[in-house]
Amino acid sequence: MKRKTQRKIRQIYCPYCDILLEYHGAHRIQLGRYGWFIEHWEHLLAGSLNVQLYVCPKCGKIEMFRERK
Ligand SMILES: [Zn+2]
Repeated sequence: MKRKTQRKIRQIYCPYCDILLEYHGAHRIQLGRYGWFIEHWEHLLAGSLNVQLYVCPKCGKIEMFRERK
């Protein structure tokens, strides 16, 4: 049994709605294609970035966490 993709899901509350954000799994983001990425991330992580997404079901706020290798 090997489940290295098993991840710890955080309990994060939306700062606006005070409800738990829904975990939306891991996503791969291609850096450079999305202009909304903070610039200083780019020299930290070349290429793509794996993030874990959490989304507020009410207001749509998105919280992202970089996945550790
Ligand atoms: Zn919210």
